[in-house]
Amino acid sequence: MTSRSSAQAPLAEIAVIGGSGFYSFLDDVTEVVVETPYGPPSDSVFVGEVAGRQVAFLPRHGRKHHLPPHRINYRANLWALRSLGVTQVLGPCAVGGLRPEFGPGTLLVPDQLVDRTKRREQTYYDGEALADGTVPGVVHVAFADPYCPVGRAVAVRTAREGGWDAVDGGTLVVVEGPRFSTRAESVWHASQGWSVVGMTGHPEAVLARELGLCYTTLTLVTDLDAGAETGDGVSHEEVLRVFADNVGRLRTVLFDVVGALPLAADRDCLCAHALDGLDTGLPVA
Ligand SMILES: [Zn+2]
Repeated sequence: MTSRSSAQAPLAEIAVIGGSGFYSFLDDVTEVVVETPYGPPSDSVFVGEVAGRQVAFLPRHGRKHHLPPHRINYRANLWALRSLGVTQVLGPCAVGGLRPEFGPGTLLVPDQLVDRTKRREQTYYDGEALADGTVPGVVHVAFADPYCPVGRAVAVRTAREGGWDAVDGGTLVVVEGPRFSTRAESVWHASQGWSVVGMTGHPEAVLARELGLCYTTLTLVTDLDAGAETGDGVSHEEVLRVFADNVGRLRTVLFDVVGALPLAADRDCLCAHALDGLDTGLPVA
């Protein structure tokens, strides 16, 4: 295990935020403990090589899966990845489908996000001094397009080349949880034209944007949300079973995406320019 302060050379250029199923079989994984001004991240970061790229894996819920979605320290997680040198983040997550055609096993790469969370710290620019005395600026980042357009295109193309007919675009609505939706909420979400519902996609995306990182989510549908079916609604067991059935091919897609993402020096997307001309006041990672 390696402890790390923030002033060292980059350890990784790409990150995958997800469970241990994505990295546990890799050879030569280095466990890195990262401290942040926002407290501890969900767990150590595990760095390994995939497709010739250095990749940082962060178990979103902790390696023992002990953190529910509303208790995750999202600010610490994104900060920790940035401090390792990461510029591009992949944030796969399990979701419920809001339309019958988005059944279990669907892979959907959203292009829009609706935030229905309630009590999560979702900005680095909250005007409070950090422990080192620095005070973040008053910054309003553009978020009309919450996901990296380059990362999205790579994800959709790569999945399809691998035989998984990914849905290109759609809206992810993120709820506070940890409970699942009522039938009325689910009907409402679907009637808005939204595609899938999850609990972890926000504020990951906006925090990445606030740090100028690329963020792409790949959502795996594990169930039809409450109002999208006439049965008993979603159960936790069902979600876990469908996720387990698909984690292998999701890992394959993620690793292929890692290999196809642009090099950090070649990034020229809106995320890479999100902080251009802004005085963030944030300490250098
Ligand atoms: Zn980008």
